[in-house]
Amino acid sequence: MIHYALRCDSAHEFDGWFKDSAAFERMAKRGLVDCPQCGSTKVSRALMAPAVASSREAAPVAPPAPPAPAEGKAIAGQIPAAALAMLQRMRAEIEKHCDYVGPRFADEARRIHAGESEARGIYGEATPEDAEALREEGIGFRTIPWVPRADG
Ligand SMILES: [Zn+2]
Repeated sequence: MIHYALRCDSAHEFDGWFKDSAAFERMAKRGLVDCPQCGSTKVSRALMAPAVASSREAAPVAPPAPPAPAEGKAIAGQIPAAALAMLQRMRAEIEKHCDYVGPRFADEARRIHAGESEARGIYGEATPEDAEALREEGIGFRTIPWVPRADG
């Protein structure tokens, strides 16, 4: 069995267990994998990524999980070239405009939310537990696939 973090087209995230990746692909294609929150069958694997906060919303926007370089390569291999280019541009924008707070993402997100820290875009790593807690606290954030940079 393998465990996948999944995401529907409304960006709900949930977990699924499958016999293997082919089994997941098969089930997803036949609409047998649905979102527990909205029932959508447009489901794809959520990619592991660091967290991003949007300065515009003043609320943090975050993606979970630090991608190891090797993992990053594996991710890149699964993404169509056009999507990869888009994600690389997104990453470049985030790195340009947001503060990297690393594993302190959840803490810093709370501080910004509470007005204790300057409202700004931040990005960093959040564990699935962090992400869940932030969601429960009503702190806005999102996860994005964190791909290797275009320049390697
Ligand atoms: Zn959903």
